[in-house]
Amino acid sequence: MRIATTCALALSAVLAGTAAFADCPGKPGALGVSRTVEIDTTGGPGFGFEQYRMHDFLLLKEVVLTFDDGPWPTNTHAVLDALDAHCAKATFFIIGKHALWHPDILKEVGARGHTVGSHTWSHANLRKLKADKAREEIEKGLSAVKLGLGREPAPFFRFPYLQDPKDQVAYLGSRNIAIFSHDVDSFDFKYRKPEDVVKSVMSKLQKHGKGIILMHDFQQATARAMPQLLSELKAQGYKLVHMKAKAPAATLAEFDEIAKAEIKGPAGTGRPTSSVVRTISAGQSK
Ligand SMILES: [Zn+2]
Repeated sequence: MRIATTCALALSAVLAGTAAFADCPGKPGALGVSRTVEIDTTGGPGFGFEQYRMHDFLLLKEVVLTFDDGPWPTNTHAVLDALDAHCAKATFFIIGKHALWHPDILKEVGARGHTVGSHTWSHANLRKLKADKAREEIEKGLSAVKLGLGREPAPFFRFPYLQDPKDQVAYLGSRNIAIFSHDVDSFDFKYRKPEDVVKSVMSKLQKHGKGIILMHDFQQATARAMPQLLSELKAQGYKLVHMKAKAPAATLAEFDEIAKAEIKGPAGTGRPTSSVVRTISAGQSK
């Protein structure tokens, strides 16, 4: 009897823990996170059945949210606020240049618990570049994201335009950086109306049943679509999976210097404005 009671208690604790994990306090209609997965990026595994068919880790009705091309004023914040309202977590693939233009927005992405990966320095099509230039796009992008974020990002990478030359796939493998394609492409950049973004994602999801969804926090229609999209996912019984890296990305010192040089203008200090100029008092306006 005593053993049975202990088991029952242990079981209820596990169930309570699971429920609490997916829960979003005070928000019964929220999507929440139903499962967090840790990815060991050793050897550079590929994900997303559009291009890579090695690892299928999602169950039916499970989705992963990914956002490319940020950080970007207004739109990234709108996406973050919508995700917060649902206690939802996502992965952001960041353009290096944008990371240096908007480091405060990128830090906000990290601070709110999302996973930050990289998406090259300048969003170049790596198929059109010589190998050493393509490598520079990857490494400088990664170093710039680290600089903007203020810590190492996840060793998660997405090729711009999903153009993945074989030698760079092998290179990322040698750097232990995982490559992410997608299962569901929202084609959100084509739409101006948020409802069209929602329709595009939901209809493709219905066909695939699950998947890594590619969207752009850079796009205004996507940013405005997020509240409705998250509610729709919840209403249709989809479960959100959050991806985390087992270990952070290791940048190369040479490219850290190259990325740093990008924010040193003639009168620059290599520091973002937010660390140079700080509000120390704000008077009440009369
Ligand atoms: Zn992109």
